[in-house]
Amino acid sequence: MADLLQIGGVTEAMKVRLEVAFTVHSLEDYDPAKITHIITNGHDGVKPEIMNSLPNLKAISCYGVGYDAIDVQAAKARGVVVTHTPNVLNAEVATTAVLLMLACYREILRDDSYVRDGAWETEGNAPLTRSADNQTVGILGLGRIGQAIADKLAPWNSKIIYHTRTKKDVDYTYYDDLTAMARDADVLICITPGGPSTNKIVNADVMEALGANGTLINVSRGSVVDENALIKALQTGKLGWAGLDVFEQEPKVPQALRDHPRTVLLPHVGSGTVETRAAMGNLTVDNLLRHLEDGKTLTPVPECADM
Ligand code: NDP
Repeated sequence: MADLLQIGGVTEAMKVRLEVAFTVHSLEDYDPAKITHIITNGHDGVKPEIMNSLPNLKAISCYGVGYDAIDVQAAKARGVVVTHTPNVLNAEVATTAVLLMLACYREILRDDSYVRDGAWETEGNAPLTRSADNQTVGILGLGRIGQAIADKLAPWNSKIIYHTRTKKDVDYTYYDDLTAMARDADVLICITPGGPSTNKIVNADVMEALGANGTLINVSRGSVVDENALIKALQTGKLGWAGLDVFEQEPKVPQALRDHPRTVLLPHVGSGTVETRAAMGNLTVDNLLRHLEDGKTLTPVPECADM
């Protein structure tokens, strides 16, 4: 049996399937010379020192679509193919983005507390909220998930605008400048990959352009938003609301974000349902099994498409 290094957690169903074809090793117990395959996830990735210590490594399967925590160029240069789980999570992550947007607009956390804390009885009707209908929604990153978000927003009659590096073949209005898009948007939804090209691209200027009535939703990577600038923008009222699934130093979330009344915070669960994780888990394992079979893979990352 081939030797697999497991980094991070897998579900029971994945474990069962993996153990049919691999001897599975944890980071605490493996012989570097024997490892030919790695299973990891978008958060843990593969540290360069681990990748460099495995002379016979052939494939890395990432349990997630974002692979910014894996040095794909270094892997490819060594002939190591990297795979991920595109498409099977589009609808779920889109639901998470819409959920955060609606939660901000309709103050779902505040009003839930209003009932639980007894304020409804003592203080009367809750203050009004804002309608999420008919808003202009700027999508930063109109890829597989960005498009799914646009589709899911149709019942709210959102006007979709977007920013990416290259214009897409869609009817939505394209902005080549993120700050200009933020100025025209009521909501900015971030759904780009992480990594150097998007590092802190949602900066103080972008948040100020979004404005006091604006809502920032981040379901991409914590690195995409300048977290200190976000805290400052919220505290000074330059930005209205923030719905966040991802953070710069996960699982650490700054106290200022936790304390702020106009934030909705999730523990990186964009794709975190039983159903979607099952689909992702199957694809992650299928890639490894296919690689064992004939050296090919089902869903290599774009950089490894020719491998
Ligand atoms: P895609 O590759 O399909 O889409 C990425 C989009 O981002 C493209 O439209 C791309 O367009 C755009 N983009 C890339 N770089 C930049 C840049 N520097 N500036 C502006 N736009 C950019 O990816 P997916 O939609 O499948 O996934 C997107 C990301 O969502 C993942 O990489 C991951 O980080 C995150 N994610 C988060 C999850 C969560 O749990 N919160 C779950 C799943 C994914 P162009 O190349 O033209 O710029």
